[in-house]
Amino acid sequence: MSITRFNAISSFSSRPKINIELPAEKLSDIFASAVFGEKEMKEFLPSAAYKKLLNGIKEGKKVERDIADQVASAMKAWAMKLGATHYTHWFQPLTGTTAEKHDSFFVPKGGSGIEEFAADALIQQEPDASSFPSGGIRATFEARGYTIWDVTSPAFIMTVGNGKTLCIPTIFISYTGETLDFKAPLLKSILALDQAATEVCYFFDRDVKHVNTTLGWEQEYFLVDSAMYYARPDLVMSGRTLLGKRSAKGQQLEDHYFGSIPERVYSYMRDFEIECLKLGIPIRTRHNEVAPSQFECAPMYEEVNLAVDHNQLLMDVMDRVSSKHKLKVLFHEKPFAGINGSGKHNNWSMSTDTGINLLSPGKTPRTNLQFLTFFINTIAAVNRHEDLLRAAVASHGNDHRLGANEAPPAIISVFTGSYLAEVLDMIEKRVDEDKFDEQDNISLRLDIHNRIPDVLLDNTDRNRTSPFAFTGNKFEFRAVGSSANCGLPMTVLNAIVAEQLKIFKKEVDDYVKNGDYKDVAILKVLRKTIKDGRKILFEGDNYSDEWHKEAKKRGLSNNKTTPIALDAMVSDKAKALFESLGIYTHRELEARHEIALENYIKALQIESRALGEIVVNQVVPACITYQNKLAENVKGLKDAGLDAKYSTTQTTMLKEISEGIEALVKLDKQMFDLRVKGNNESDTKKQALLYCDKVKPIMDEIRELTDKLEGIVDDELWPLPKYREMLFTK
Ligand code: ADP
Ligand code: MG
Repeated sequence: MSITRFNAISSFSSRPKINIELPAEKLSDIFASAVFGEKEMKEFLPSAAYKKLLNGIKEGKKVERDIADQVASAMKAWAMKLGATHYTHWFQPLTGTTAEKHDSFFVPKGGSGIEEFAADALIQQEPDASSFPSGGIRATFEARGYTIWDVTSPAFIMTVGNGKTLCIPTIFISYTGETLDFKAPLLKSILALDQAATEVCYFFDRDVKHVNTTLGWEQEYFLVDSAMYYARPDLVMSGRTLLGKRSAKGQQLEDHYFGSIPERVYSYMRDFEIECLKLGIPIRTRHNEVAPSQFECAPMYEEVNLAVDHNQLLMDVMDRVSSKHKLKVLFHEKPFAGINGSGKHNNWSMSTDTGINLLSPGKTPRTNLQFLTFFINTIAAVNRHEDLLRAAVASHGNDHRLGANEAPPAIISVFTGSYLAEVLDMIEKRVDEDKFDEQDNISLRLDIHNRIPDVLLDNTDRNRTSPFAFTGNKFEFRAVGSSANCGLPMTVLNAIVAEQLKIFKKEVDDYVKNGDYKDVAILKVLRKTIKDGRKILFEGDNYSDEWHKEAKKRGLSNNKTTPIALDAMVSDKAKALFESLGIYTHRELEARHEIALENYIKALQIESRALGEIVVNQVVPACITYQNKLAENVKGLKDAGLDAKYSTTQTTMLKEISEGIEALVKLDKQMFDLRVKGNNESDTKKQALLYCDKVKPIMDEIRELTDKLEGIVDDELWPLPKYREMLFTK
């Protein structure tokens, strides 16, 4: 008897209901109640220190030592008032998860003790960092790494059970100063874009002092009952099902999308949303997604550094709260074959400190020119670095989406919507290098302005197949994987746009120096920028074969697998880009490339081992049991004197199962040998390619066989929860 599977089914069906009470009258009452925000700073800090800290936050500047001391004691007082006993530097190492090391405020002194938290502990810590990936930057004899307070992201209190910990967002760097996390480069890219975009804003508006990047992510995820989850070693080990026959019903009826949310899920959602709101995560939207048991949540967008922190926190909170509901949340990009995978759309824009969204079509001809400037330069940036954007979202999990026939494809292209496409055409046709003058400029700008109401009405986000779509007042980067840290794609996007804006600024300045009126110069450079960037624009169906052919002709990259896609991170082009903007040094890029490959290899290694174990320890034994049953049956019929024609079905099945067992065991051995070969390979890229090109296809073959066997073997004997049981139980 396959005990675990049937136990799982019975425990799931007797789950008690969990009622979630709102801890306050209104949601706004709890919002950011666990965050050391402006209100708390004001209350707990002397007013001079409060002003200096606020200024440090706004300008992203270092906070002086004496101020830090006062901040530390204010944070301690606030945190202890809310019941916190410990504090931790909270950081985002390149493992992809978040890291913490808790220290108690309590310090024993004499026979008793006191609670302490001073500037030293706030500003900098030295966690034992030797077990975090460093891509060779930190030699093992020099295992030191530092976490340093990120003043721009507020401290918060994390509650786990009854324990409360003050968490201080930090960056993570090596002893020699190289960054070892997602946050530090992100902060550098924010600064680079701020500088480049502010300079371009000067063409239009002298009052702009800063440009902020904004991010609104949309988090997709799957939920399964925790008993089912624990009965599936593949889910536990690798976050996805490595085998499992598709169920009769998948997502073909499209009845799940935007359907009513199952009650159990609804109470889970409310529960984690309340926890998120307390942490200041402005979560607003919740709905079912396309695949059965798939859901999505999204917040109001925020400044990008905060938004990235909040997304990391969200995943953490969702995971924690799910166990209370006896559910397991899956962030893997492809937990189940045959139905949609999960992504994390990154809605990205830039806005000025004067409150203008630079990617929002304007109300006057002048603001429209500003909008078009940022719009067109973003397209040009994506065009120049499409391969780098692809690299920024490369992971073993995301290959199942980008490399397969799923949304979106591995080819990066930009969707503008038809009205903006027309506006681009208009600029390209009417701006002439020599003849274009101030009069033409005025009439062109008016014509553009007359088009804008159409743009605003245009359903610009209807092309769901585009990986990088303009959606009315922001770009939506849809290729980001659901489990990813948004920090990397956002760093790349900020960097490439910063570089492009600098190029643009210089070209406009050159025209002006040669005597062109400023707006004429801007339009001339925009025309050239549109012309140069055309090949990235695509309005059609991104899944179609025609597009794949066309994209190849245009010279766009189509890197379906991670080991190949990652090359773009260490190209000369990428190195020049990042170094000139001060975001990554060559050494940091090489190290990150190495770490990304290692993460890829490890993930496939784990998957392949887990699959081998399941096959040998669970699938084959179940098949043998059924084989015996069939063999006995055939023999029994023969002994009873029945003609062989009465056992042809059984004999055929017996043959199929016997062949299946043989083939499975052989494939498992082959896969094992390849792993050994792979593990002896010292070149990381070659090792990754071996896993990608040799191990993965065998895993696919094994899956095909086991799924076929699942269709033959007696349901009673099958040890693993089936797709229908995991996906359709509410
Ligand atoms: P959908 O893509 O599902 O149609 P919405 O249009 O509601 O969703 O928006 C998706 C996300 O875009 C939300 O998280 C929202 O906060 C975000 N968003 C809206 N405006 C901006 C902006 N200016 N910058 C960044 N994100 C934004
Ligand atoms: Mg979206």
